[in-house]
Amino acid sequence: MENLIIDDDTGKWDLIWLAGVRDDQPATIFDKIVAGEIPCSKVLETEDVYAFKDINPCAPTHVLVIPKKRDGLDKIRSASQEHVEILGKLLLAAGEIVRDKNLGFKDGGRIVINDGPDGGQEVPHLHMHVLGGRSLTWPPG
Ligand code: AMP
Repeated sequence: MENLIIDDDTGKWDLIWLAGVRDDQPATIFDKIVAGEIPCSKVLETEDVYAFKDINPCAPTHVLVIPKKRDGLDKIRSASQEHVEILGKLLLAAGEIVRDKNLGFKDGGRIVINDGPDGGQEVPHLHMHVLGGRSLTWPPG
């Protein structure tokens, strides 16, 4: 992506690096979940954040937390200054989820972001795995 600096007198674009860059990648399975086109077991929804149970859980409790609008966040490596607010909201949501004993969390959990092929990322829409319900081992495989 190129470094766009647009000044159209509205002040909307400001001089923020990459501000205004549109996400023209195809919709992901997670976009379809947010749109209600694919069913899920929803755990939390705010204006910007969506969380649902992973269909193939890797721990007794496994929740995915995603930005409702991908907005260029296909992976954490793609994040820039314009994403600071949504990244904070995702982390806050993850913390709220880990506190929820009704979901099966006991005393904490683990928040994981897989990035790209080396990280084992399959869905190109930023997501945090929130895992818990038992004592998790370290290091991961
Ligand atoms: P990653 O490998 O980090 O990209 O993680 C993608 C995750 O999405 C995997 O843990 C999958 O089990 C999960 N997943 C894929 N499709 C669905 C779905 N329809 N509902 C819930 N979780 C899903």
